[in-house]
Amino acid sequence: MALNLDPEREFRDKLETLKGRCREVGLKLTHQRLEIFRELALATDHPSAEAIHKRVQARLPTISLDTTYRTLSTFERYGFVAKVCVLDDRARFCGDSSLHHHLLCTRCKSIVDFPWDTFDEVQLPPETEGWGRVNTVRVTLEGICTECLKQRDHEIV
Ligand SMILES: [Zn+2]
Ligand SMILES: [Zn+2]
Repeated sequence: MALNLDPEREFRDKLETLKGRCREVGLKLTHQRLEIFRELALATDHPSAEAIHKRVQARLPTISLDTTYRTLSTFERYGFVAKVCVLDDRARFCGDSSLHHHLLCTRCKSIVDFPWDTFDEVQLPPETEGWGRVNTVRVTLEGICTECLKQRDHEIV
């Protein structure tokens, strides 16, 4: 969750990190994979694979939806991107691997990031000990966003 002061610069940093991690795990960073990563890393709306595919297709007309699915699942397996949740049968992805949480509007399905420093410092309850290894502690708050609440007001009036 970084402030988007300079998205291009921020993306270049993310790309360098990705390249390094691909080398570490021996994953070839093909042009298609790179473009899929770029689309997700620059997106702020936590797009679905279908939405990412459409956006990448504008630059790479030959890319298939199947390649997009497979690339995203490979990236997810290595922890380069994260699946936030599944909405209407479509997984929604986050390309920002820094620690942050999500606000989800159950009406318009928008997902936005928010930081929660005090939560991040909380210790896990003892009940979780012995379960295994916790890798990520990320919460999704569900509700109705301001835009949707406004529309509801209009409906009532
Ligand atoms: Zn996110
Ligand atoms: Zn909404």
